[in-house]
Amino acid sequence: MRLSLKFPRWIVICVANSLFIFGLLLAHAQDLQKPETHGIAVANMDRSVKPGDDFYEYANGGWVKRTEMPPDRSRIGVFTTLADLADKRTAAIIEEAAKANASAGSNTRQIADLYTSYMDEATIEAKGLAPLHPHLDAIAAIHDQRELARALGESLRADVDALNNTNFHTPNLFGLWAAPGFNDSDHYVPYLLQGGLQLPDREYYLADNEHMRQIRIQYQAHVSAMLKLAGFTDPDARATRIVELEHAIAEKHISLADSEDIHKANNTWTQADFAAQAPGLNWAEYFRAAGLGQQASFIVWQPSAFTGESALVASKPLETWKDWLAYHLIEAYAEVLPKAFADERFVFFGKTLTGTSQQRPLWQRGVVVTNVLLGDAVGQIYAGKYFSPEAKARAEALVANIVAAFRKRIEALSWMDPATKAEAQAKLTTLYVGVGYPDTWRDYSDYQVKASDIFGNIWRGRLYSYHRSLARLGAPVDRKEWSMTPQTVNAVNLPLQNALNFPAAILQPPFFDPQAPDAVNYGAIGSVIGHEISHTFDTEGSTFDSKGRVRNWWTPADLTHFEAATARLAAQYDTYKPFQDLAVNGRQTLAENIADVAGISAAYDGYHAALGDKTAPLQDGFTGDQQFFIAFGQNWGSKSRDAALRQQVMTDPHAPSQYRADTARNIDGWYSAFPVQPGEKLYLAPSDRVRIW
Ligand SMILES: [Zn+2]
Repeated sequence: MRLSLKFPRWIVICVANSLFIFGLLLAHAQDLQKPETHGIAVANMDRSVKPGDDFYEYANGGWVKRTEMPPDRSRIGVFTTLADLADKRTAAIIEEAAKANASAGSNTRQIADLYTSYMDEATIEAKGLAPLHPHLDAIAAIHDQRELARALGESLRADVDALNNTNFHTPNLFGLWAAPGFNDSDHYVPYLLQGGLQLPDREYYLADNEHMRQIRIQYQAHVSAMLKLAGFTDPDARATRIVELEHAIAEKHISLADSEDIHKANNTWTQADFAAQAPGLNWAEYFRAAGLGQQASFIVWQPSAFTGESALVASKPLETWKDWLAYHLIEAYAEVLPKAFADERFVFFGKTLTGTSQQRPLWQRGVVVTNVLLGDAVGQIYAGKYFSPEAKARAEALVANIVAAFRKRIEALSWMDPATKAEAQAKLTTLYVGVGYPDTWRDYSDYQVKASDIFGNIWRGRLYSYHRSLARLGAPVDRKEWSMTPQTVNAVNLPLQNALNFPAAILQPPFFDPQAPDAVNYGAIGSVIGHEISHTFDTEGSTFDSKGRVRNWWTPADLTHFEAATARLAAQYDTYKPFQDLAVNGRQTLAENIADVAGISAAYDGYHAALGDKTAPLQDGFTGDQQFFIAFGQNWGSKSRDAALRQQVMTDPHAPSQYRADTARNIDGWYSAFPVQPGEKLYLAPSDRVRIW
């Protein structure tokens, strides 16, 4: 699972004053990073707030007060600021590639051709709808259920990832994830996930409140507008039917919280099971068209959704499905169609859904696309330029100390059975911790990138990724394969590989600064490292053993204790209400909240082990322990627009940032550091503090 929420995916577009925005981004980068101070950013704090009343505000209030949300953003903070810096560096790499005139087929040439074709707005306008036409014609030619099944099968892509990047959303009918098997972790197997919705989650279709009703009205208008732009007759009537169909699909979906429950996901279906368990869709034709005709079995993540969606394929009119296919195709490529499409997409998916008032500059959107389709090619250059062997060595030493701290914490647990402890220690022994960048890089030689063909480049890029997934089915698992690029500001735990990735781009100030005091590095990146290690042992990690197999290696008594402790943490988060009508979902965010508590606990131990008998140097009058907790709190400095925050609360496994900082209230050391007194708003009596590890 990821450390933090995803950044906007393909929502982007428009140039507007890009130089101005570029300058603004740099200003933010300098502001939050404070590389010259090498320690906590005191100017970002609000010392008029008591840490025990609002720790997030105490650590970040100064920054929150003086920071304006840029018009092209729905959220900003430490993560986005560092992401901007990584984007700027990546853009420079890409521009150099564009100037290099490299030989055809080389990574450098592919990067150059992809980015240049994305930036070539004149060619995009001149081509108009031409790139779309063959695909729309194919949809129009569908005249029976068999041909519909074929079209649906041909649209399957490797665009979901249930456990690593926790992406459960695909607008295609279903999504494929090729990953180590639940029941055979030495080989890649196909997982199939529910899909079919354009809006981020079933709740957008089903929630009975005024805010969501307004979004649905605007969504239907948007669908109509897209169809009109593409030249469809009766766009309003078609849009009504498409949205009704998606509403019916949403009713068949299971909730995000249920999707996150691995115990509900391990359902092996043979090809024959699909016809028996989920009649309606012509499955044989579907799988044949998807290139999966020879695949004997699949893991079906949400069986009831497959049953429900398949029935809808048969029961809803063919013409409605054809309109749905056409609209979904247009939406998937709106970004690289003439500007009117991209603008209309932004009006809904940017402004309405996330509250952003202005599109990101074109170059940044080009960087996003290049990172998505050629991430390792760019990352290889990025790592060589921006992550020194010295930084890698220091970060690896820090990782080793936190792993050691975790080992001690497990050894000291009074409630865990010795056999369970032994397997937990074995998991730490076999854990692969990737720091900075992978040992080997993805080979893009099968991906054909052409000059001046952005539509084709994206089409082929998605297919390349899909075919790569198909090709690995049944093949042995590479446990050292990365699931994030080095230029990503995030971190991830890969449970089926028993592996962690800490990309180069997060291993920099303010998370990690070789020149900062230990208190700050342990509080900032140390708690991030501890967070990821803890996923190895949480509700999810307890499902996977030291070899990545799905095996319950806990005794019933261990599990009872763990569930009681974590239920208390879920209840604690249920009380947080970012909006009057919307609370944090303690169960949906539980695994991440456990990881935060465990991460800061292990980092705190690691810090004290590194400190030994010494007294930490003061910074601006703050003790070592205070610096440690403030650095942790400053990891989560951020601002969100209301619409984006609502979307996060409903669709993300991560709680909003402020509550992640406030979770320090579960750590005894936090109380003594400031000190925090009974009666203060975040104060918890010792017996109410949730201790898990
Ligand atoms: Zn996490």
